[in-house]
Amino acid sequence: HAKEEGRNRFSYFSPAMQERAMLRVQLGKDLRAALAERQLSLHFQPIPSLGSGSIHKAEALLRWTHPQRGPVPPAEFIPVAEELGLIDAIGAWVFRQAVATVARWRDMQPAGATDEVQITVNASPRQFATGTSLEVLLDELDRRQLPGSCIALEITEGLLLDERPTVTAQLARLSAAGIQTSLDDFGTGYSAMAYLKRMDIHTLKIDRSFIRDLTTDPSDLAITEAIIAMAHKLGLEVVAEGVETEAQRDCLIAAHCDYGQGYLFARPMPEDAFLELIACQPA
Ligand code: C2E
Ligand code: MG
Ligand code: MG
Ligand code: MG
Repeated sequence: HAKEEGRNRFSYFSPAMQERAMLRVQLGKDLRAALAERQLSLHFQPIPSLGSGSIHKAEALLRWTHPQRGPVPPAEFIPVAEELGLIDAIGAWVFRQAVATVARWRDMQPAGATDEVQITVNASPRQFATGTSLEVLLDELDRRQLPGSCIALEITEGLLLDERPTVTAQLARLSAAGIQTSLDDFGTGYSAMAYLKRMDIHTLKIDRSFIRDLTTDPSDLAITEAIIAMAHKLGLEVVAEGVETEAQRDCLIAAHCDYGQGYLFARPMPEDAFLELIACQPA
C-alpha cells in the first residue's frame, strides 16, 4: 500500500521533472565510475597580478569528460557529488592533483626565486563537515615537504555562517598549517561582514556578476570599489573574477584591485599547457 502511495505521489511530477530526476540518478551512477575510470581532470586558470602581469597564482577547476555525454560542467555534477556523499573522495583526488601540480610549478622556478607560487582549490562546505579530504591535503603537503602557503582554499560565504565547532576547528587547523582561505563569489552570498573580523580570511574574490557590467553600470563600479577599499583596510587581497575585456581590466587597475582572473588573460587549461605558459613568462 505504501508503495502504491509512493507511486501516486511520483505521478504528481510532470514528465519533464521525472526525466530530470532520472538523469540526475544516472549522473550519480556515472560519477561513481568516473573517479575509478580516470574521467576526471583538473584545469588551471592563471590569476595574474594586475600591476605587473606576472603569474604566481592559479585556480584549479575540475573537469569531467563523460564517455557518452562529453564534458559535463562542474555546476551540474558537483551538487550531485555532494548529495551522494562522493565529494570527499573527489575532493581528496582534487587536492592530490593540485599539490602535484604546484610541486612541478615550484620545481620550474629559477633558483633563488623569492616569489611563492600558489594554486587555489575550491572546497565544498560538505568537505568541512567530515574533514577527511582536508586530512589528505595536509598529509600530501607534509609528504612532499611543501609549505601550506602553496595551496589556498576557495570557500563560500555560507560556510562561515556555519558556527559548528567542526567547521571552526577545520578552518583553524588549515590556518595553522599556513593554508590561506579565499572567499569565492564574494558579494553574492550573505555578505555578513562580521565574519571578516572573526575568521582568518586572506583573499576576497569579487564575483563575476559585478565585473560583467563594471564599465557601464555605476552601481557595479561602486560596489567593486567599495569591496576593494574595505578589503585593503582589513589587510586582505582582492581578486576580480570574470575579467573579459581590457576596459574592465583598466577599471580594476584604477580601483587598485590586486589580481584578475578571466578569459582576457587565459581560459582554464590542462596542466601541460599551463606549465608551458608559465615557462614562457618573462623573468
Ligand atoms: P568558481 O570557483 O567561481 O570558478 C570560476 C568559474 O568561472 C569557472 O567555471 C571558470 O571557468 C569560469 N570563468 C573564468 N573566467 C571567466 C570569464 O572570464 N568569463 C566567464 N563567463 N567565466 C569565467 P567552471 O570551471 O565551470 O566552474 C564552476 C564552479 O564549479 C566553480 O566556480 C566552483 O564553484 C565549482 N568547482 C569547480 N571545480 C571544483 C572543485 O574541484 N571542487 C568543488 N567543490 N567545486 C568546484
Ligand atoms: Mg573558485
Ligand atoms: Mg569564483
Ligand atoms: Mg564565481
